[in-house]
Amino acid sequence: MNCAFTLEHYGELLEAAKTGGYRFASFAGKPRRGTLFLRHDVDISLDAALRMAELEAEADARATYFLMTQSVFYNLASPEGVRAINRLRELGHGVGLHAVWPGAESDDRFDPVLAWHNPEQDYMSQPVDGFVNVMEPPYFDPDHYRSDSNQQWRHGCPHEELAGGDFEWLQLLVHPEIWVYPGSTMRETMDAMLDAEHERRRGLLAEDRIDLS
Ligand SMILES: [Zn+2]
Ligand SMILES: [Zn+2]
Repeated sequence: MNCAFTLEHYGELLEAAKTGGYRFASFAGKPRRGTLFLRHDVDISLDAALRMAELEAEADARATYFLMTQSVFYNLASPEGVRAINRLRELGHGVGLHAVWPGAESDDRFDPVLAWHNPEQDYMSQPVDGFVNVMEPPYFDPDHYRSDSNQQWRHGCPHEELAGGDFEWLQLLVHPEIWVYPGSTMRETMDAMLDAEHERRRGLLAEDRIDLS
């Protein structure tokens, strides 16, 4: 199996999790044997999040998408942002807040669950009023956590361990844009994302009645 960061291999990871007997869980309950918290921090692209969300729904997988209200890359209050949240809900996924410290304001778009964006060690695992912080115990434990940050698994791709049921439970952090856009390095993947973004924004300009003739 080729452990590339592609949607194809992401689908194989989901299948591996099912083979290993894991249950896709929200952060509403504490981890138990077989719990798989599938967490997506949406740092850059709602489009990428939606593509991943559709694939998961087809695979009967449930995830929690953490969306930003203070992103420099997308606007959750725009029609596109509202559509994205609605679609994620329709597909059965959870929606949490991907907050920029210290701004943790809950509103009815979000489940009461929060993940800090690029957190510092000193507050990363601290409890947050009104939310489950995904990095606080018992939801976070280094032995029960894997992340694809910057297109690198610190302990290797987890598909084999998932298929073997090796984790008692797991929080798996996956960034959609890494898997949706092609590239064997983060630089290549981000360049591919920027190319797609160019086309998407051109479409938005046309919709906004900008003369592109
Ligand atoms: Zn793999
Ligand atoms: Zn983030």
